[in-house]
Formats: sequence, structure tokens, C-alpha cells
Amino acid sequence: MTPPLRHLVLVLGDQLNQDASALTDFDAEQDAIWMAEVDEESTHVKSAKQRSTLFLSAMRHFAADLRQKNWRVMYSAIDASDNVGTLAGELDKAITANRPAKLIMTAPGDWRVLQSLRAVASQHDLLLEIRDDTHFFSTVRDFTQHANGRKQLRLEFFYRELRHKTGILMEGDKPIGGQWNFDADNRGSFGKQGPGALPAPTRFAPDAITQEVIRLVQQRFAHHPGSVDSFGWPVTREQALETLHAFILHRLPSFGLYQDAMWEGEVWLYHSHLSCALNLKLLNPREVLNAAVEALNKGHAPIEAVEGFVRQILGWREYVRGIYWMNMPGYVDLNTSNAHAPLPSFYWTGETDMACLRDAIGQTLTHGYAHHIQRLMVTGLYALLLGVSPKEVHAWYLAVYVDAVEWVELPNTLGMSQFADGGLMASKPYVASGKYIDRMSNHCKGCRFNPAESIGETACPFTTLYWDYLNKHSDSLAKNPRMLMQLKNLNRLSNDTKSLIAAQARQLQS
Ligand SMILES: Cc1cc2nc3c(=O)[nH]c(=O)nc-3n(C[C@H](O)[C@H](O)[C@H](O)COP(=O)(O)OP(=O)(O)OC[C@H]3O[C@@H](n4cnc5c(N)ncnc54)[C@H](O)[C@@H]3O)c2cc1C
Ligand code: SF4
Repeated sequence: MTPPLRHLVLVLGDQLNQDASALTDFDAEQDAIWMAEVDEESTHVKSAKQRSTLFLSAMRHFAADLRQKNWRVMYSAIDASDNVGTLAGELDKAITANRPAKLIMTAPGDWRVLQSLRAVASQHDLLLEIRDDTHFFSTVRDFTQHANGRKQLRLEFFYRELRHKTGILMEGDKPIGGQWNFDADNRGSFGKQGPGALPAPTRFAPDAITQEVIRLVQQRFAHHPGSVDSFGWPVTREQALETLHAFILHRLPSFGLYQDAMWEGEVWLYHSHLSCALNLKLLNPREVLNAAVEALNKGHAPIEAVEGFVRQILGWREYVRGIYWMNMPGYVDLNTSNAHAPLPSFYWTGETDMACLRDAIGQTLTHGYAHHIQRLMVTGLYALLLGVSPKEVHAWYLAVYVDAVEWVELPNTLGMSQFADGGLMASKPYVASGKYIDRMSNHCKGCRFNPAESIGETACPFTTLYWDYLNKHSDSLAKNPRMLMQLKNLNRLSNDTKSLIAAQARQLQS
């Protein structure tokens, strides 16, 4: 007879590390692990094929590793005939069949998932112990404490607090390099000559497990966005470590300078491509930053690059998580600009004349990846200027990127990119005309539109919509000192020009 189960440890698809807090006291004699693949996680938004493949393959690899250790794993396969399709339903079955004395899990990344698992535990009158996620530098409590009593939240202050707390890039009380932030050195473009020879990305040929998952995803989610033909993401910890080391060696030195640059057809540039490995917890952010700081200490990478990279992970990644948990569940419904337009259908196909959008959406559908500036200043900017409903924009970002998990995707989309939280997360709306894209890329050279024009046949839609956005929102934007320069430029336009722009913007919005 199987002995009674002490703990059933719940491991979600984005908690794939054996050093997870839920597993610290795992006892193979008395405990079991529960993992479930369910349709709901691929269908609550229409998860792109690359994204579903990544999660399912990484989960299967992780479960195989645990079984190798002779740990008992209760695993629901998505295509099992008795799979009920939801996490709650599968957990309910596992509890009924195994009668554990207690449930343990690491804090999940999704508010929705937390609520549904809590509800199952309470239906069974079972204690669900939720442990801090140690794959972050701060806890949600730290963030709440930081936020208490502040009129305004800003990344910079939380980031500095974490630099002090962790000692990362610090010399005693002072930042290494004499300044906290090397942002101004991190806005280079590739110039007319382009990026030249770029380091090859670290990609992995699908093994038997991944090939099986690809077949399954192609059948089960045939109508979901994107293609999975090019799948090469890390699905194991070993592969994630290889990606990290290759980044430190080949890309980190130029990461800072070219962080914001774009180039037609160049998907990978000098970025790390580590977000999915970090978000699935195949990597711990501490080991990632230790490796970057070591590169600085050895003289392999300059401070501008290393600080720029540290700021993304110790700063933005921790900050957005705090914003998410402090403001959910209401955050997802915020729409302070009252934007209700539908998302243009070309976001799902990439079929548009606008070269920058075609490139960013095309690579997103092919690889499940676009770098930050493509997300913020191309796809995000266009949706903001067009007045798309933030919820629709959110559903798109959550569906199409391999690194998309709600705690990180939602504040980035709704707060930073769409300014739909009215400035809770970002100090100003990130708005610019087509000229910004022209400065940071070569897209405009091959586009039928002209970024300098706002009216007429060849006017760049970004430029038209930019002026129209400033004009429409000028009263509320005037209260923000960071927008004054942009409004000053708007005021240089004559009223006739503004009317023509407004008419052209209405055509784009119709
Ligand atoms: C509209 C929008 C949606 C986004 N959705 C997601 C998402 O679903 N998942 C996600 O991980 N990131 C998201 N980001 C943040 C950022 O774009 C990605 O983390 C980054 O592009 C991933 O590529 P990379 O690993 O090559 O990053 P790099 O440019 O190499 O940066 C290094 C690491 O820093 C972290 N990072 C960088 N910027 C941010 C940020 N703004 N917030 C949180 N972490 C950051 C990531 O872990 C990333 O791997 C979004 C940004 C925007 C503007
Ligand atoms: S002209 Fe406008 S639409 Fe065309 S690539 Fe440049 S910014 Fe994009």
C-alpha cells in the first residue's frame, strides 16, 4: 500500500528549478510533486505556438529530471484522455486521488492562477502554504514597504534601494563608476553602415521531447499565432546556462551602447535573449548578474554595458513585479485614456506597408521574440497612438512572446507602453514620431512612408498619429513637466496644420 502523502508540492510551468523554495524540504519518501499541462494556459489568451512549445517542452524536461532522482511526479499531460483542461480541475483530481496532508507551492506569477489554486485548496479544506519566490531579489512585501507613503513610484528609487541592499555594482555606499545610471550612454544607433557582423545567437536544435511537443502544438493549437519551425529556445537549465555564458562572452560588451538600436531583418543584435529562461526560472537572476559583474571585474565588459544590463534585471524586472502584485486585480482594467479602438488585424499577420511594424511583428510571429525598443517604440507605440483598448494590447503581448507571463507583461504593456494606468508605473507616456524610429533603425529607408511627413499620401502614420495624440491630450499632458518640450514643438504647428493632421489621423483610426 502507498504510504499517506505528506506534502503535495505544486510546480507550475514557470517554476522549473530544483532550488525553488517549494522544494527546499522535499522528502522523496513522503512527498510528491504535481505538475499539469492544461489547455487553459494556452487558450485564456491565444498563446503563440513558440510560447506553448517552450512551456510544455521545458516542463517535460524538468519532470524527466525529477524522475531521474526518483522523486514522485504526478504529471498531467495535455493530451491525456482524462485531462479536464484547467489547473484547478487537474489539481482537484490529484487531491481527491491522493489525499495529501498539505499543499506547498512557490508564489505563482499570475494573480488568476493564485486565485484558482487557492479556491481548490479551500474546497478540500487543505492548507496551501505559499512560499516566497527566491528567483527574485526582492519580495512583494519589500516593494509594498518601499511604496508606502510615496506619492509617486519611480524605477530609479527602487533600483537604487536594491543596489544598496544587494551590494551589486557598489563600492561601499557609492555606485561603481561614480554614477547610478549610464542611460545616456546606452542609446546608440548603428549609423548608416549598419551593425556589421553580429555574434550568432545561441539556439538549440529540438531534441526528441521538444519535437514531440512541436507536433502536439501544431495539431492542438493549429490556429494559434506564429510558426514553430524555427524553435531554438533553451528548454533545460544546462541550455539556459549555455545561453547566459555565450551572452556574457559575445554580446554583453556591446549590450549597453546598442540596447535601443534596431536594424531590418536583425532579430538578435546584442540582447541577451534570457528573459524566457529567467521567467521559467531555469536561471536565477543572481547567477546572471554575478556573471555580468565578473565580466566587468575582468575588464571584459565596460561599466555602461554592465550597469545597463543590471538595471534591466535588478531594476525593471523587480519593479514591474512589485507594480503588478500591488495593483492586482484592478490593474488589468485600467484605461485612463479611455482608449477603445480594436487592435489592427495585421498584428496577427505582419501584413502591413509600415516597414518597422512589418519587421517587428514578423520576427515576433517567427521567433516569439522582439527586443524592448521594438515592443515599446514600434508595436506598443503604434497601438497607443491609434487609441487601441489596452486590454486588447495586453492580450496580444501575453500571447505572442515566449517570455510572456502576466506579472511582467501586464505592467510593461498597460503601464509603460500604453500609459493606461495614468502614470503609476512610468513618469510619462513613451510617445514619439516616426523620426525616432528613423534615428534608431534603417526601417524608414525601405518604407513607402516618410517619417518627416505628417500629412499627405506618403505621411508616416506614426508621425501623423503622434501630433494628433499630443494635440488631443494636450491639456492633461501639460501637467507633466517631462512633456513640456514635446508640447512646445506641437505649438509650433499652425491650427490649419493641426486640423489636417487630425483629419488624416481619423482616417487611420477608422
Ligand atoms: C509592451 C512590452 C511588453 C513586454 N512584455 C514582457 C514579457 O512578457 N516578459 C518579459 O520578460 N519582458 C517583457 N518586456 C520587457 C522586455 O521587452 C523584455 O524583457 C526583453 O525584450 C526580453 O529580451 P532579452 O531577454 O533579450 O532582454 P535584454 O534586452 O537582454 O534585457 C535583459 C533582461 O532584463 C530584463 N528586462 C529588460 N527590460 C525589462 C522590463 N521592462 N521589465 C522587466 N524585465 C526587463 C529581462 O529579464 C531581460 O531578459 C516587455 C516590454 C514591453 C515594452
Ligand atoms: S516611415 Fe514610419 S511607418 Fe515607415 S518605417 Fe519609418 S516609422 Fe515606420
